[in-house]
Amino acid sequence: MADETRPTIGFIGLGIMGRPMSRNLLRAGYPLVVYDLIPEAVEAIVREGARPGTSSADVASRSQVVITMLPDSPDVEKAYLGPQGVLEGARPGTVLVDMSTISPTVAVRVAQAAAEKGCPMLDAPVSGGDVGAQRGTLSIMVGGDPQVFVQVEPIFSAMGKAVHCGESGAGQVVKACNQVLVAVTLVGMAEALVLGTKAGVDPEKIVQVLSGGLARCGVLENRGMRVVGRDFAPGFRIRLHYKDLNIIREAGRAYGVPLPASALAHELFGAAMAAGRGELDHSGIVTVIEDLAGVEVKKK
Ligand code: NAD
Repeated sequence: MADETRPTIGFIGLGIMGRPMSRNLLRAGYPLVVYDLIPEAVEAIVREGARPGTSSADVASRSQVVITMLPDSPDVEKAYLGPQGVLEGARPGTVLVDMSTISPTVAVRVAQAAAEKGCPMLDAPVSGGDVGAQRGTLSIMVGGDPQVFVQVEPIFSAMGKAVHCGESGAGQVVKACNQVLVAVTLVGMAEALVLGTKAGVDPEKIVQVLSGGLARCGVLENRGMRVVGRDFAPGFRIRLHYKDLNIIREAGRAYGVPLPASALAHELFGAAMAAGRGELDHSGIVTVIEDLAGVEVKKK
């Protein structure tokens, strides 16, 4: 039941992540106005108590806080700056929060356009996947005015745990750092398991032993045994991680930071895309190394 003393939240982008996140806001008692390009996505959350919007501008005009959860940078630019976009409808003082994973430089540009309309904007990408979105346990990395962060924190806490990382764009920078580490670690794990397997060792033993030493990490713990069991159901799709590697390399160029390991991971993820494996979980990157080595990682 919505608590009308709470700010009305506009939620735009009701996909794999946005739908469970908006559901958690409803459960926490926030009145919600929602919009997605796909009418069925809107209808599904309206059945759970939200009100439907007719465009991003319409949602923004009816809300005190607007949250977006969209695929990529061009989608966010379109939803905020385009015709019938958020900035057309938002009144000065409306707080805007983009939780999509996009380019840090695009995040800063959109926030500047929002500031010119008198709307403070935070970038607040997330880590934790669809399961974290459903459980309300996302890790939320936030860039922007710290006072606005404090204002929005109770809303974030309905979806997960938020940390203020710095000024506008800093949330997206930290998310890019996260995705660098995960992509490069996935490639490292793939090489280790392919090498060990082709040399005749049971890869299950490799995962077990490495999990107790310095190589211990979330990637090995969450995905190691799934690779050995050849379970590549997503999780986080190769296609989305490839998009994030595009963002990472663009950020590297924008800030003057060479990222050689990310560049290699980008090419390997590109090879997986070219082989038609974009819908596999990102741990499926091992299949590209397997093709090079002519061996398949599986339990002995
Ligand atoms: P998704 O493709 O399932 O959902 C995106 C939704 O946005 C779709 O329903 C689409 O119709 C809608 N949309 C696109 N453009 C729109 C517009 N202009 N106006 C209104 N609606 C629009 O994607 P997702 O998996 O929910 O991911 C969303 C973001 O979260 C991405 O940036 C992704 O990288 C990031 N992310 C995803 C995961 C994950 O595990 N899926 C984890 C962490 C971060």
